[in-house]
Amino acid sequence: LITRGLMLPAVVINNIHNEISDNSRIIVDGINGEIIVNPTDDDWNEYQKLKKKHGPTQITRIKRLSEIPPKTSDGKIVKVGVNLALPGPVDDILSEHNFPVGLYRTEFLYLSRYSFPDEETQFEFYRNVAKKYANTTVILRTYDLGYDKIAPNSTWAAEDNPALGWRGIRAMLDMSHIFKSQIRAILRASTEKNLKIMLPMISDVSEYDKAKKYIQQVKFQLLREKIPFDENIQIGIMVEVPSAALSANHLARKVDFVSIGTNDLTQYTLAADRMNQKMAGLYSAFHPSVLKLIQLTVNACKKYNKPVSICGEIAGDLLALPLFIGMNIDCLSMSPAKIFDLCRMVKKIDSGMAKHLAESVLSSETQKEVLSKLQNYKIELEKKKH
Ligand code: PEP
Ligand code: MG
Repeated sequence: LITRGLMLPAVVINNIHNEISDNSRIIVDGINGEIIVNPTDDDWNEYQKLKKKHGPTQITRIKRLSEIPPKTSDGKIVKVGVNLALPGPVDDILSEHNFPVGLYRTEFLYLSRYSFPDEETQFEFYRNVAKKYANTTVILRTYDLGYDKIAPNSTWAAEDNPALGWRGIRAMLDMSHIFKSQIRAILRASTEKNLKIMLPMISDVSEYDKAKKYIQQVKFQLLREKIPFDENIQIGIMVEVPSAALSANHLARKVDFVSIGTNDLTQYTLAADRMNQKMAGLYSAFHPSVLKLIQLTVNACKKYNKPVSICGEIAGDLLALPLFIGMNIDCLSMSPAKIFDLCRMVKKIDSGMAKHLAESVLSSETQKEVLSKLQNYKIELEKKKH
């Protein structure tokens, strides 16, 4: 998540240090996820050619984004957002293009220092983010700690089943002093009026109500202390637990916006751990059951006129793009590296055709059927020249 946010190609591999020395020549193939230690001259030359073929670096591509506004062939604007975790070299370029930040994973503030930062440190951080993205909006997700987001050697209590355990909003509601200190820092930083608050791992209405009550308490405190903040700051939730998708009607009525976290929604719907390599074959957001929960959530948001976005990895998947355009998702938020190719693809899509495709895909019985419909459509799109 961190390297994607910073647009650094990365390959994760165990125990490579035994195979390399100071003078090793190494090829890091970020496209195929391979590392070649001491390649042959033929390999080396082949990769030099590939490097040329893949053309400009990700950063150069991002700089060219204004040339390709995300507009469908029939003129519908597709709102594209970015997912960030830490400040990085792409911030300056992204903020110039005014892309909204659809997900700021604030927990990396904690994870990068192994402890909770104090209110002042948080305030400075959020204020800088608000200023950097002054011409657009930033959704700050409150700490989503636990399970896959625990610092090594931290004192976070070990659990038998951490994915189903004390994480996200559950932990924050129990540690309300930490939650309130984060909310206070965000509110104090909100005077530019471009920040929004998003609560992760909400599983039902009562959790939302409790979090909202804490936020109200902090607001009253700030009012009493005459500290300025955005009194109308929007409060939204992530839908990433199936129970939230199934209660989407109740939740959508109350919240200001919804963002669907398909990374977790997929693992919980299919009972397939997103961190377990052995589950890689099973874990797929293209499963009809996951799509059904997305659809339920979107329908509820449309009913109550609340913006709904997707911020899980599938938001940047080119195969899924026509489906989401057809479903009328309000914003797709993704790692910055995905934006360029996605914007190029958007302009080939006709929103009317995408709507038909979505109807057909959403009635599929199997994942295979979903994928084959989407693949056929993508092949047709790729034949289009412009
Ligand atoms: C998700 O679950 O889809 C999500 C965006 O949150 P994270 O990947 O940080 O858990
Ligand atoms: Mg999640």
